[in-house]
Amino acid sequence: MNKLSSYIKALGRDLIHVLFPDLCLACNKLPKTRDAAFCVECLHVMPYTDHFILKENEVTKHFRGRVNILHGAALLRFREGSIVQVMLHNLKYKKRKEIGEVLGEIAGKKLLDSPIFSVPDIIIPVPVHPKKVRRRGYNQSTIFGKAVSAAIHVALADDILIKETETTSQTGKSRTERVENVSEVFVLRKPEEISGRHVLVVDDVVTTGATLEACCLKLKDGGAKSISILSIAVAG
Ligand SMILES: [Zn+2]
Repeated sequence: MNKLSSYIKALGRDLIHVLFPDLCLACNKLPKTRDAAFCVECLHVMPYTDHFILKENEVTKHFRGRVNILHGAALLRFREGSIVQVMLHNLKYKKRKEIGEVLGEIAGKKLLDSPIFSVPDIIIPVPVHPKKVRRRGYNQSTIFGKAVSAAIHVALADDILIKETETTSQTGKSRTERVENVSEVFVLRKPEEISGRHVLVVDDVVTTGATLEACCLKLKDGGAKSISILSIAVAG
C-alpha cells in the first residue's frame, strides 16, 4: 500500500507538468516569468557562477595539476538542499529532460558571449553505462550537451567516448585509485574524430572530478589538441 501511495504521489507530480507546462522548472510551484524558464523567486536566487568571465575558477581549479584543460565552466553552484540539487535530481531520475534543455541553452549562450571561451570543434558528453541509459531512458549529460550544441552550432558526438562496464564501488579508495578505477571503463572509438581538435566535454555536475578527469585523459591519449569542460553545476 505504501508503495502504491508513493507511486501515485510521483504520478501526480509528473501529471502536474503535463497539465501545467508553464510552471517554474526549479520549484514546480509558481508560474514561469515571460521569456524565462523560472519563476521570479527562483530567478532571483538562481546561483549562476561567474565562470564565463573568470579564466581561473572552481572548475579549472579542480583539474589543476591533474589534467591540462583549456577552459572550464559550470553554469550554477551546487549546494545540498538547493533548487539546483532538485533540478539535477529531476533531470536525472524524473524524466524532466526540459531542465537539461533549458540549462544547456543558457550555458551555450553564455559560452558564445564569453570573452575567454573559444568555441570548440566538437562536443562530447560524459558517458553513462548503456544499462543505466536504458533504465533512465537517456543520459542527462547528452540532453544538456545537445542543447549546448544547438546554441553554439557545434556538433555533439555520443558514440566516441563509451562506458563499457559498471564502475565498481569507490568507497575507501584514494584519489589516485579512484581515477584508475574509473578510467579503466572508458573506451575511445573513432579517435580520428577528435584528433587535433578542441573537444568540449559536458557533464551534469562536477563533484570530485574523478570521472571527468578520466574522460579528459582518455581524449588526450586519443589525440585531442585541447580539452574544455562545461557542466550544469559545480559542488562547493
Ligand atoms: Zn520557481
